Amino acid sequence: MKKVAKIRLKPKFVPYLKALGILVCLILGVFLFYEKQIHDLTKLGYSKKASQAILFSFHKDYILSVGENPTLNAVFESDQFQEEYLDQYRKIQYVNQEHFVSNLHKLFKLGYSTNDINIIFAHGDDAAVGRFAKREKIKYLEEFFIVPYAKLDNYDRYVHYADDTGEDEELTVLYVNLDLDKEDYEDAHLVDSFSTDMLVNKHRYLSSDFVPTDLAMIDSQYASSDDLQASRLAINAFRKMADAAEREGYQIVINSAYRSYQDQVDLTELYFNTYGQGYVDKYVAKPGFSEHQTGLAFDVGSRNTNVFANSKEYQWMQENSYKYGFIARFEKRFEAITGFRQEAWHYRYVGEEIASYIHEHSIPFEEYWAMFLDQRR
Ligand SMILES: [Zn+2]
Repeated sequence: MKKVAKIRLKPKFVPYLKALGILVCLILGVFLFYEKQIHDLTKLGYSKKASQAILFSFHKDYILSVGENPTLNAVFESDQFQEEYLDQYRKIQYVNQEHFVSNLHKLFKLGYSTNDINIIFAHGDDAAVGRFAKREKIKYLEEFFIVPYAKLDNYDRYVHYADDTGEDEELTVLYVNLDLDKEDYEDAHLVDSFSTDMLVNKHRYLSSDFVPTDLAMIDSQYASSDDLQASRLAINAFRKMADAAEREGYQIVINSAYRSYQDQVDLTELYFNTYGQGYVDKYVAKPGFSEHQTGLAFDVGSRNTNVFANSKEYQWMQENSYKYGFIARFEKRFEAITGFRQEAWHYRYVGEEIASYIHEHSIPFEEYWAMFLDQRR
């Protein structure tokens, strides 16, 4: 049997070892205590970086009393925490914007209340809030921003428009967002991608080479001539609608559908030669500004009469077209918004969901677009 060699320490090292042991325990204790503090905060939803900053700012107890708060998390994470705003941060709705914290501080500095600041962040994207934070404080912020889709960048135009016209906040925001405070065709926006909810009017235009992506021929059974084209989606919806009308004894037909940019150029020339410039300015959409170029607009007729507005088919369309995704686009009561006189025959495919909403709420497509589709913020 082998003897296990015993290592004997010389007695004089023992006190050092004891001291080292105590030191290690102490460091470990501090470390564990620190980890526990961080854990208390991360458990609440704070990031590790934010938790460390909170700990070193000595506001851990305050944060624990507030609980989870994305704005406080963002502030501490950014290294821009300012003691004087400690109690206001938690009242700010967090928004995921690149310069959220620095813009927040600029707005605090301008003297905006936390309520004002929440309104500001809800009405603009990062860049718009940044621009807004550079201007002087606005006194009656809620005047226009009570409208959910009001835009920070349009503030001055709202003020001018309301002063000029005496309109209320709601209409002012709607009209300005639709650029109706500008002349027709002035500073118009280019619409460059096809979708069934696209908006084309006297302020939003298509380029000369825009063609709907699903352009197809219309079956002559549904059209008054055999060379008409439109968006495949719109054609399919129209077929369903025409078949349903037929079953109930009504005959609807497409008289005009997709018109290319060049078609509109030719049409403008034709009307100009026949009726003159005054007529063209008033009634003919400029090339690029006609909804027919989207492939989603149809001029609908009755097979039984030439005056569609007097036909029973017109009545049927008024009551049923929305079920198939079509809306009467230019109605008398909406002339001021659509920019077109009434055209009883002009229908636009927008899909069933949007058409139903528009039907139910009796609003023009422009208003729906301003409320739900405008790419702001
Ligand atoms: Zn038309």
